[in-house]
Amino acid sequence: MQNRMAVKYSSTRGGESGVSLIDALFNGLAPDGGLYVPDSLPEIEFSTFHGMTFPEIAVLVLKKWIGDLIPENDLRDICHDAFFFEVPLISLDLPEGKTNILELFHGPTLSFKDFGARFMARLMRHFIAGTGKRITVLVATSGDTGSAVADGFAGMDGIRVVLLYPKGQVSPTQERQLTVKRKGVTVCSVDGSFDQCQSMVKQAFFDPELDDVKLSSANSINIGRLLPQMLYYIWTSAGFETPPLFCVPSGNLGNLTAGVMAAGTGLPTAGFLAAHNRNDFFPQWLKNCDAQFSASIRTISNAMDVGAPSNFERLAHMMTHDQLAGLIEGGAVTDSDTRQSMTRIFRMTSYPADPHTAVGVEVLRRKRSSHGEDIPCVVLSTAHPAKFPEIVEPALGTSLSSPRELLDLQTRETSVVHIPAQNEDLTRVVLSTS
Ligand SMILES: *Cc1c(COP(=O)(O)O)cnc(C)c1O
Repeated sequence: MQNRMAVKYSSTRGGESGVSLIDALFNGLAPDGGLYVPDSLPEIEFSTFHGMTFPEIAVLVLKKWIGDLIPENDLRDICHDAFFFEVPLISLDLPEGKTNILELFHGPTLSFKDFGARFMARLMRHFIAGTGKRITVLVATSGDTGSAVADGFAGMDGIRVVLLYPKGQVSPTQERQLTVKRKGVTVCSVDGSFDQCQSMVKQAFFDPELDDVKLSSANSINIGRLLPQMLYYIWTSAGFETPPLFCVPSGNLGNLTAGVMAAGTGLPTAGFLAAHNRNDFFPQWLKNCDAQFSASIRTISNAMDVGAPSNFERLAHMMTHDQLAGLIEGGAVTDSDTRQSMTRIFRMTSYPADPHTAVGVEVLRRKRSSHGEDIPCVVLSTAHPAKFPEIVEPALGTSLSSPRELLDLQTRETSVVHIPAQNEDLTRVVLSTS
């Protein structure tokens, strides 16, 4: 008989071990404040994936992680439903060498966050189905996470979403994406900063008035978001004879952590480049393990404006500094480098890269010579350029056509609740929606 044990999880702070996926998923953060890391890594047969579709690979890989917690037929439904969109690999001929762009932005909200949010939503729905339980997912957002979570969880039986964003601090496109009316989703525009939104979410978990509401969070530290993010590294690597080098535009390091987890299970790879904007704690740390977190700096690749990456604790727990420095090389660029990168790529290939992808292409250009010439290079393209027209259009000197997903938003009804940055106002909203 085949033994299909699910991987268990421990807290990075040592307070818990042997935790099931279900508890790790619904807790988000461990009770001791740590992040959940896998206790063991499954062995995966990478040689069998060539020629398979993305959802097919997803089922085979996730089955090794989830074991018999989910029947295979249900897992297959979840994967086909979550990953219904294309994942194209575009090859660009740049002077520094062939550069493959892995477009992870063809989901409903046009960023890679759709992979994590859609899968996590379906995983949660699966585990609460038939239990009669209801949960409320709280999330504070300043960008792509919010719309991916709102869209990924919308209309799920038993799940409500309450989403907070700082009023006036997201772009017009992002605001549209956040505030279109979705079933089961309440969006609050908060008179305050992102940090205030985040602290309101944190305190809600300790609010006695909300004792009867089962709260959960969907931020990037949730293990339910990391599992599906391993899949595109695996899918891409299956298409190459020679193991590729992956360049990952990074902020909270969730994407990179997923790549490192996949590498731990035997992913054929030549390693990773961590591409950062001026928020360069992680590249600094790779060079010198005394580097410290710092306050975040605003840049034009704003989804990567993170001074204290939340997944760093997880990475540093899974491997030693020397192991990480052997597997990952870091690089950081300025806004002016990023603009020049967008302009250069467009002039040479007519390819419109978004600012985050442009950071990746530029870091790869600078670092690729230290890797073999025959190594395929893949840049993860994290968002669609049309999400950032204010930045991309001046750099390219042309206007972008909007994809259907954005055009459709123009005709949809919006719904938003304005609240002050006060804990009791969030409490009131949560009670009225749960
Ligand atoms: C979230 C995000 C990133 C950063 O990803 P992390 O997993 O936080 O490192 C990069 N680019 C875009 C467009 C994003 O939305």
